[in-house]
Amino acid sequence: METIHNYQCPCCGAPLVFYEQQLHCDSCGNNFSVESMEQMLEGEQQAGGESKFDWTHYEPRNYESTESINLANYSCPSCGAEITGDDTLGATVCPYCGNSTIVKGQFEGVLRPDYLIPFAVDKREAMAAFEAASKKAPFLPDEFKSKKKIEEMAGVYVPFWTFDCDCDAAVTYSAQRVSCWSDANYTFTKTDFFKLFRQGSVGFANIPVDGSKKADDTYMEAVEPYDYSAAVDFNSAYLAGYLADKYDVSAEECEDRANERVKNSTLDAFSETTGVYSSIIPEQTRVSFSNGKIRYSLLPVWMLNIKYLDKMYKFAINGQTGKVVGIYPIDKAKKWKYFWKVAGIAYAVAAVIALFLLS
Ligand SMILES: [Zn+2]
Ligand SMILES: [Zn+2]
Repeated sequence: METIHNYQCPCCGAPLVFYEQQLHCDSCGNNFSVESMEQMLEGEQQAGGESKFDWTHYEPRNYESTESINLANYSCPSCGAEITGDDTLGATVCPYCGNSTIVKGQFEGVLRPDYLIPFAVDKREAMAAFEAASKKAPFLPDEFKSKKKIEEMAGVYVPFWTFDCDCDAAVTYSAQRVSCWSDANYTFTKTDFFKLFRQGSVGFANIPVDGSKKADDTYMEAVEPYDYSAAVDFNSAYLAGYLADKYDVSAEECEDRANERVKNSTLDAFSETTGVYSSIIPEQTRVSFSNGKIRYSLLPVWMLNIKYLDKMYKFAINGQTGKVVGIYPIDKAKKWKYFWKVAGIAYAVAAVIALFLLS
């Protein structure tokens, strides 16, 4: 009997011995073919390599002087937003905080986006979407129904980083399948152990990561999804009538989030192929990116700020789909009025019944 020290039992870790054309584990009694052990070691070697997240770094580009003629840069002293827009826009309300003292500043050094998804929902449609959503809100204060107020909504291109890459990954899993059965005297439980190996490539295009701190992440995630197939090369003509916010989270700062998203999506795609087991645990994972590209993109959002009882209520409307996101307050006076009305009717009904019984 020859001991092969290289091989360890995948179930219990004890050394395997070669016996009757098989590798045998004295400790747990399992047998393995040499072929499957070799396959398993190869898988482990592949999955055990180092993960590499290589992005070609984003190269910032400024606007060409010819195309920036009609553009101006505005900044909000209240929240710090840096907004690019039409030169003709004049003083306007900050779409992020509702402050009405935004000031025109220098245009030099403003970065040019690479891509954008153009607005497909115009202001009239966005206002209608907001009004339709408002109808579902109970006891809505009148401020939220004012046409004049709703008309203050601004079309803003919100900065996003989009990440493209090819992801090559290898994963090993340990899995178990438990089966139970019983006869007249005993209940049996059988546990089969499996080693699984998956390797493959997944291509990713336009993984978005929010490039703005001012745009509340929960709002921006709620306003998604966007259809990126509608993205076009940036052209300053798209900014006519709209505002464009400048990113304040750098591409490098967003890389970790993009890495996580790519890695998790790849692992999810792999685990969908493993089949059904009682338990399945990933053991080794290697993920490598190639052709990683980062682009500065803009997504269309209609923004509306409405002040009610000293609090600013923010709404965002997807400029591609018309989806409305925001929290509507309740007008307490209206609610009580409704309560007393209902209570009054109930009282009147009770009084009628009482009269009827007395008569
Ligand atoms: Zn064993
Ligand atoms: Zn502001």
